[in-house]
Amino acid sequence: MSITTPPRPLDVTALFPRLAPLARTATRLHPRPGSPSVHDSSVGGPLLWPTGEPWPHCAGPHVWDGRNPALSPDDVRWERRIRAELAGRPHGDPNLPLAARYTPEEAATAKRIKAGRPWPEGPVAMLPMAQLYVRDISDLRPPGQSEADLLQVLWCPFDHPANPTTALRWRSTAEITDVLAAPPEPPAMQFRGYLPEPCLLAPEQITEYPNPLELSKELQQELRDWTRWQAAGAAVDSSYSVAPDEFYMINLSVAPGWKTGGWTRWGLTDPMPRRCQECGTEADPLLTIASSEWSANTKTWAPEEDQVNLTSPLVLPSSQKPTKLDIARGYNLQLHVCPASPDHPHIELIQ
Ligand SMILES: [Zn+2]
Ligand SMILES: [Zn+2]
Repeated sequence: MSITTPPRPLDVTALFPRLAPLARTATRLHPRPGSPSVHDSSVGGPLLWPTGEPWPHCAGPHVWDGRNPALSPDDVRWERRIRAELAGRPHGDPNLPLAARYTPEEAATAKRIKAGRPWPEGPVAMLPMAQLYVRDISDLRPPGQSEADLLQVLWCPFDHPANPTTALRWRSTAEITDVLAAPPEPPAMQFRGYLPEPCLLAPEQITEYPNPLELSKELQQELRDWTRWQAAGAAVDSSYSVAPDEFYMINLSVAPGWKTGGWTRWGLTDPMPRRCQECGTEADPLLTIASSEWSANTKTWAPEEDQVNLTSPLVLPSSQKPTKLDIARGYNLQLHVCPASPDHPHIELIQ
């Protein structure tokens, strides 16, 4: 599977040579639903986990919103499977909702799921979010001097008073002899959008530049100067003439979607320092866990394979949200790590 980002509308360093030293490589992961094994790089797939090692649990506290009942991962899997099946079933009245096509058994299951699961007491088993083999993502490097060749990311599918709770493991696969066959699962989770759909990956390297707010005042000034952009002719959408730095931010700086490395994506807040709690070093972007691969606003980043489906601005193909995750209503969870040591705590940032 190969998935390709269309070329950027123009070479931004030709217009703004001072951006050139700020170029960073990021790897877009391009998740697509599939059946990954423990030997694949994946999102929401099984982890190559040694039998002897305790599975990570989260002790909370878990914040209930007071409205939505909890569901088990299997409840969400059932709903996703049945929804796909229902769409293909014959039906009489096209105005009937999908639920009207349930068999009696399915209706009973749906009713039970709607009633909700008990809110868990005590620690909750974390869910696999992703595992990434270094062989698949050449820019992925463990922090410090580690020889690890596999990164595993788990998360707790509940809201917490502060940031989401995630666990990172760097491993050397050569040291793993027995693989845990049936890892524990949380008895309940908070939202449907907290269960990643199993996806295989099609990593692709791209080049990123910083968010405008992370640039020097001089560069910010240059990016706002429409006369400088006119040298690029029709490659720049003239509707951006009043705010060409927006054109830069949306189309030329940071890619949307799942990725490793690159620059931090900002949107919810202005840029802020991400210093390691242990040693104060500025942490590096490691992994962006995204709710969607691109949006109507960022559709120049939609892969070439999807561009044919973009004839209507209202209908977005399912490849836009392959993982079915919904983090903080459509935002991204970005993990940052201290370059000094894999033992220093990582930083979770929602943007
Ligand atoms: Zn938790
Ligand atoms: Zn540190």
